[in-house]
Amino acid sequence: MRYCIVGAGFSGAVIARALAEAGHKVLVIDERATAGGNCHSERDADTGVMVHVYGPHIFHTGNERVWAYVQKFGDWVPYNHRVQAVAGGRVFSLPVNLLTINQFFNRVMSPDEARAFIAAQAENIAEPKNFEEQALSMIGPDLYRAFFRGYTRKQWGVEPTELPASILKRLPVRFTYEDSYFAHPHQAMPREGFTQVVEAILAVDGVEVRLSTRFEDLDEPFAHVIFSGPIDRYFNYAFGRLGYRTLDFERFTHTGDFQGTAVLNYCDEDVPFTRITEHKHFAPWERDRLEGSVLYREFSRLCGPDDIPYYPIRQTNEEAMLRKYVERARATPGVSFVGRLGSYRYLDMDVTIAEALDASDRMIAAIREGQSLPAFFVEPLGA
Ligand code: UDP
Repeated sequence: MRYCIVGAGFSGAVIARALAEAGHKVLVIDERATAGGNCHSERDADTGVMVHVYGPHIFHTGNERVWAYVQKFGDWVPYNHRVQAVAGGRVFSLPVNLLTINQFFNRVMSPDEARAFIAAQAENIAEPKNFEEQALSMIGPDLYRAFFRGYTRKQWGVEPTELPASILKRLPVRFTYEDSYFAHPHQAMPREGFTQVVEAILAVDGVEVRLSTRFEDLDEPFAHVIFSGPIDRYFNYAFGRLGYRTLDFERFTHTGDFQGTAVLNYCDEDVPFTRITEHKHFAPWERDRLEGSVLYREFSRLCGPDDIPYYPIRQTNEEAMLRKYVERARATPGVSFVGRLGSYRYLDMDVTIAEALDASDRMIAAIREGQSLPAFFVEPLGA
């Protein structure tokens, strides 16, 4: 019997290929007409711009196995992601670095002076329990209010005191002029977009890909199902709907260069969107020959039943609901849950690929030993 993988994003593609290379037959389905999940990118017919259809994705990693793996499936061009932010009518560099601090406070401080200056502002909170406490203890109230409070309320729709500190831990504070958004040694973009990479991963003997196909509509027995869709959907929302933020993209075009960079955040609360992305700047090697430009104004709101789930919210009540789904999953043979939606976690692409490679190793070993496959390969609770 074949293995069935639900979802043709990075998780599903990586696992499908590994199983096929180990000699198993795999059917990969996705209800969308395209592979790549939310990383899906396609060229706009009018302008030639490679558009990140479901919002911007930037590949960065410190994981050598993942970096070596992705090299096999596309031509990767080095890309150094930078972000600017508009706050109070001025433009600043993010993540908060020495330039941000000096410009914001109108000073010319050295790294040591800035460190002492921020330490004097920062609140002494030994174990920050939420996003706001984490921010106040890292950067103090002024920078927090300018760059984080409004943006975070817009992005997450709840008070920063109700969000986990882990969200902010994604962003560093630097006392140098280093303004790369990510600190990882490998940062690159696929020359022909992420979808091409995922399609290349899936292009192997033993894998059949069936797009525009819903799992609910399949009528075929499988050796095992690997489900990378929403875990609550698999169980028909038996314990309620896990909370997600969805995004609305207001697409617009421009002739020439609209904003001079890929991502401009808008941190003030009276601006309704969180950021504007100008997609040709994600491909600096080709942007100067493209006359037209495609942009997204990004609005975040609570995900309804018919919306695309993007960011797992993971407030305390959702953790309790997730626990019930996890217990149910552990008591349900024949299915494993993987990826961002399968485990209800905020995952970067490289972590998704790393987890999928690890899950594949363990699956193949378990199958070889005649053992049944676990419901999860990564602990989804308490993450
Ligand atoms: N954030 C913020 N202001 C910014 C950028 C980020 O307050 O200008 C906060 C916000 O809560 C966001 C989190 O930091 O969700 C993590 O930012 P990141 O850039 O990693 O978010 P992503 O790119 O995944 O949307």
